[in-house]
Amino acid sequence: MIFMKNNSDKNRKIRNDIILAAAILVIAVAGLLFLNATKESGSYVVVKIDGVEKYSYSITDNVTQEIITGENGEHTNTLVIKDGKASVSTANCPDGICVGHREISFVGETIVCLPHKVVIEVQKETENQSLDAVV
Ligand SMILES: [Zn+2]
Repeated sequence: MIFMKNNSDKNRKIRNDIILAAAILVIAVAGLLFLNATKESGSYVVVKIDGVEKYSYSITDNVTQEIITGENGEHTNTLVIKDGKASVSTANCPDGICVGHREISFVGETIVCLPHKVVIEVQKETENQSLDAVV
């Protein structure tokens, strides 16, 4: 009887461990789904130079845009929008952080080129629809 009791205690413990592991798994998966659900795909890619909105594109466009900045136009970043994602393909900034940045596609995501004061941001809607640079 003692053996039986110990054995059933052991089984109960294993069962509890399995339930606990399953519960953790469910919470983890639910958390992941929740995070993905709160990520909202953007509609526009906006380029700001020194805080001023300069270019605006639909994220569904296929765009390769040279962003030229600097007093003598000596700074360049190449913005590429493809397959609903924006990235910087080339730049002549010293740190190269913008080029190394992963593609962005969700609202609020940005690629920043600090040396060139260029900010590429994914937005839900453009702040100013009457830009002449809108393609
Ligand atoms: Zn850069």
